[in-house]
Parts: sequence; structure tokens; C-alpha cells
Amino acid sequence: MLFHLPIRYQDRTRISAIGSIQPGSDVVIVGQIEVADVQFGRRRSLLVKVSDTTGLITLRFFHFNQSQQKAFARGKWIKCFGEARRGPRSLEMVHPEYRITNEQPETNLETSLTPVYPATEGVGPNVIRKLAAQSLTLALPDLAELIPPAVCEQFSLPPLKQALQTAHTPPADIDTATLVAHKHPSLQRLALEEMVAHHLALFQLRQQRVTAVAPKFSLNRRSWEKLKPLLGFQLTNAQLRVIEETATDISQAIPALRMIQGDVGSGKTVVAAAAALQAIDAGFQAALMAPTELLAEQHRKNFSGWFEKIGVQVEWLTGKLPAAERRKALANISNGSAQMVVGTHALFQEQVDFAQLGLVIVDEQHRFGVDQRLALRNKGNKKNQVPHQLIMSATPIPRSLAMVFYADLDVSSIDELPPGRKAVNTVVLPDTRREDIVERIRHVCAEGQQVYWVCPLIEESDTLQAQAATDTWGSLEQALPELNVALVHGKMKGKEKDSVMQKFRDAKSNVLVATTVIEVGVDVPNANLMIIENAERLGLAQLHQLRGRVGRGAEQANCVLLYKPPLGRLAKDRLALLRDSNDGFEIAQKDLEHRGPGEMLGTRQTGLQQMRIADLGRDIGLLPKVEQIAEQLKQHHPESVPLLIQRWIRQNDIYANV
Ligand code: ADP
Ligand code: MG
Repeated sequence: MLFHLPIRYQDRTRISAIGSIQPGSDVVIVGQIEVADVQFGRRRSLLVKVSDTTGLITLRFFHFNQSQQKAFARGKWIKCFGEARRGPRSLEMVHPEYRITNEQPETNLETSLTPVYPATEGVGPNVIRKLAAQSLTLALPDLAELIPPAVCEQFSLPPLKQALQTAHTPPADIDTATLVAHKHPSLQRLALEEMVAHHLALFQLRQQRVTAVAPKFSLNRRSWEKLKPLLGFQLTNAQLRVIEETATDISQAIPALRMIQGDVGSGKTVVAAAAALQAIDAGFQAALMAPTELLAEQHRKNFSGWFEKIGVQVEWLTGKLPAAERRKALANISNGSAQMVVGTHALFQEQVDFAQLGLVIVDEQHRFGVDQRLALRNKGNKKNQVPHQLIMSATPIPRSLAMVFYADLDVSSIDELPPGRKAVNTVVLPDTRREDIVERIRHVCAEGQQVYWVCPLIEESDTLQAQAATDTWGSLEQALPELNVALVHGKMKGKEKDSVMQKFRDAKSNVLVATTVIEVGVDVPNANLMIIENAERLGLAQLHQLRGRVGRGAEQANCVLLYKPPLGRLAKDRLALLRDSNDGFEIAQKDLEHRGPGEMLGTRQTGLQQMRIADLGRDIGLLPKVEQIAEQLKQHHPESVPLLIQRWIRQNDIYANV
């Protein structure tokens, strides 16, 4: 209860003169009843006029009974609390709280602002308020201060008890706006403590991990040196750097957990290949897991193409493999002849038994649950050794955030695209321009190019998305009879989906109407135009990721972001940012500021937990302090560390970061 904070406050600390009330404010008034009348209008209502020496206000009740009506007798005193609004003739209060008395009421007012708590089903606001008040008297006195006074002083933090007292019962003269906006020192102190606790928890997890033992893969890298000249392209400096960082990491006995982040098309796959070869040279197996069949297939092609040149065996395992092939794959994986294994979720199924898995690579990590990643890693836990892990993501985590909340991960960034890539040209248009766009599609397809039309919806509902896509598909079919318009969505069977995609890849269809299922990994170089509907509803990082599906060939690629007008300022600015920038890092940083990390990193499994008070979007400015405070505690007050973690982090949350 103590850490369940109010969302806003009411001011019942003073009586307002009726003549001085600003419309829109919550106020207490005291006056005498002038008249009470039932008005028969569009809605029957009881109007009660109340005056004090300064003015007149009308109370309006839509629900009332006879006895209630009678009680509003002329000349009686009444004390009300409610929101004053502009009415047709005078100020009004609709259904205020009130009490009627014969005499002028005592002015026994509240001494602090009244908190309004987020209510929960079955527990109304008054119950919560009462419980909160009780916990302030009963529990607050015994609450331990876990940030020592010296540290509080150094960072100008109010003591915990004071912070909580202020948050629950702010003094009448406080600036409520800063309080509600969480800018008040008391609330910042609470947010900071919570963030520090999370940071410390991650640090602790890291320590647990680094005490485990992993196989060491020698740095001499024979196979990689053999493959490098056969790739057919020069590695970028960023790729070379990340390959080195990774190589050093996995040459040590400490299990690596490294995120390789790089914008769409930055060339993460080949970096993964270099690491895999290092493990394979040491006699271990490497596994690469991708979130979709489509993407796994693409990786298989890449890896087979590369590795067969240097005599390394690639095996392939997905859910849709025919039984005989599957048996063979499983046998090769368990007898160790499969050195490199590429696949989907099928890789961590029970029947899969690796001879000696030394390196786990997870592509598009935000598409997997952490439990799934762990399930694969556990396939390699043998003889008291655990495998190294690399996770790849095109959704970059801003540095500031990574430092504090991915304390358990090492992060390598491929912050450079291979030369010759052209930025996608992006325009933002209202969906009233649909017809023009259809004409543009007609034109582009006549020249032999292909087009994506993406229909996202904000709801995480496959059914609704599928419906929207199906509708659009219908109307495009009609508008473009000479073209072959295909449809793919998450409600389709895997086989069906694959065959639609295959057709599009083989240029047998011109336009592909799709939901966000195409977000990751699809690679069709001939598709150079993408239209994204309802762009205003998607996160920037996700839009950027989607946009990365075009611009994979030699032609200049274009992306049209369609929105439904009218568009608010903030939404306009967001889309403008995407129009003006092709830099995934910059976009992710902005997305974080606008929408918070949950949106940015995907909702399913961010590796970041919901916090109770802190909000990373809002409180991002506190990150540097979080690190400094945590450092102080680790060094000088280690006894506080486990207590802070215990206070703020639920047990089952924590494993999400292993
Ligand atoms: P992502 O980082 O999005 O996973 P990929 O690894 O799929 O990117 O690489 C995208 C494409 O760029 C692939 O066709 C890959 O072979 C190619 N590629 C990777 N590195 C380079 C490079 N240094 N120069 C040219 N092409 C490259
Ligand atoms: Mg990739």
C-alpha cells in the first residue's frame, strides 16, 4: 500500500469563495440554499442554487429521489466538494459530494491534499484511501531506510519516509503539478530507489552468471580466416570491431552474454558466422535460432553457402520438416556431425539433444521469450559447462538505457551500414491521398517492381489485423485488376504463408498486402515501395524496422507513411522524425523518450520489467544518478543491496533477465 501512489490530488484544504472559482477546478464551497427545482429538458435534472456572499453556483443532479429533493430546503447550509464547470447560466457542479446542515458548518477542513488512487476492480477509491491512510500510520514508522543518509544527502534525496508521506498526503501549499508530473523530489526519490534496485538486481545476476564456466574458444580462428576472403564483400569497420569484441569474449571461460545490435541491413549474420566458426574450430557445435521459418530458411541459405566452401556441416531443423529428414537432423545433432545448426523454436524441443553445444545465437531476440532463449541455452549445459550466448537485434537499446538496465548484457553495436546502401526515401501523407498512391503502385509495378502494403493495428490482435489486411486486399484487388495482389497475415497456416511469400519472392505477385508479420527478416530486393497504413499508431522503432524491408536492391526505395487525419502535434513530430532520419539509433532514442521502453522493445518480452513507480520514458533523466547511487551502495553499503532488491522486485520477475 505504501508504494501504491496516488495519481492525482484534490484540494479540500480550504473553502473557496463562490465568486472566485475558476471553472475546471475541484473545490470545497460553503453556502446557503436559495432554491431547488426539477428541470424537464433533454434530461430531467434537479437544479439546486447555492450562494455565499460572493456569488452563486448551481448543483446539478441527474439521479435523485424525492426525499433528497426535499432536503434541499431554502435557507439551509450546505458544504460541497466537486469540480466546478461552466454551465448554461452560471457555474455548476454535477453530482458533488455534499452535506446539509441547519447551522453554518464548522470549517473542519483537511490539512493536506486528498489523494486519489488508481482504483482496482472491486476496490473502490474510498477503500484504497482508507487503507493507504492506515498504512501510513501503521507501516510507515517501521519502514527501513535503505539508502544511507550520507548518500541521500549527496544526491539531494529526501528520506524515504518523508518522500512517501509527501506522496500520499502532500501539504496544502505544495505545487501539485510537479507532483502529478513526478518531478517533485519526493517522487523522484522513489523512482530512483526503484531503478537502483533493478540495476542492482541485474548486477547480481551478472555475478551469478560469471561464476559459471564456459568452454574457451581459441582466438586463432582458422576457419574464419579461410572464409573471409570468400565472402565476396569487404567487411565494414564496425563489423570487424564487433567480430573482435565477440571473439575475445568467447575465448574466455566466463559464459558470454552479448547483444549484437545493428540497424536493419548492417550485416549481423556474418558476425554471427564468425563467432560460430570459432566455436566449431574448438570442436563444439553452434546453434542459430530465428523467430520465423522464413527467417530461419534465409539463414540456412546463407550459412550453407558460406560453410560448404570451407567444409563445415550445416544442419537445419524447423517444425515443418518431414519426419524422415527430421530424424536425420536429430541424429546429426546428437552425434555431433552437425557442426552448425540453424532453426526455429524447434531447436529447443525436448527431442533435440546436442552432442556438444558451445555457442547459442538468437536472432531478433525481442521476438523470443527469455524462457525460450534459456531453454536453448540449457541444451548446452553439460559437464558443468554452459554455452556462450549471442543475441542479435535490430532494435537498438539506447546506450543510457543499456548501461543501467541491461547491466547483465554486454553490448556491441554495428553502427555502420555496408557501403552503397541508399537511404529509404520516406514521405508522410494523409490517407485521403489513397487514390494517388494506388496510381503510383500501378506505375511502379508496370516497371516491374514490387510493392508492400502493410496494415498494422495497434491492437495486439491477430484477428483484427487480419481483418484490416483482408479489407485492404479486397479494395486493392478491385482498384488494380491488372496486377496480382497477394495477402499474408498471422492467421494463415504456416504453409499457406510460406507459399504466398515464396510467390512474392519469385515475383509472381506484384503487391503484397501484409500485417506486421513481415516485420522481420524478409528479403525481397525487387520490392522498392512500401506503404504503411495507420503509421501514427506504431512505434517509431517498429516503423523503422518495417521500412527496412525495402531498399535491399540497387533501386532507390520509397516508403509512404499513411495516417488518419487529424494528427496531433506529437504524432506529427514523430512521423516527421522518421521521414527525416534513417538512423535506427536516433530513432530508438526518440521512441524511448516518447513512448517508453515497452513500446520500443516490443511488448512480449523486453527483458525489462514493469516498474511500479518509475517510468523509463518519463524518468530517463535519472539514469546517470541510478548508476552512481548503485555504485555507492555496492562499495560502501553492501548490506542494503539485497534488501533493496527484495523490496522492489518480485521473485518471478527476476529470472526474466538471466
Ligand atoms: P541484418 O543485420 O539486418 O541481419 P544481414 O546480415 O542479413 O543484415 O545482411 C544484409 C545483407 O548485406 C546480406 O545480403 C549480407 O550478405 C550483406 N552484407 C553483410 N555485410 C556486408 C558488407 N560488409 N558489404 C556488403 N554486403 C554485406
Ligand atoms: Mg538479420
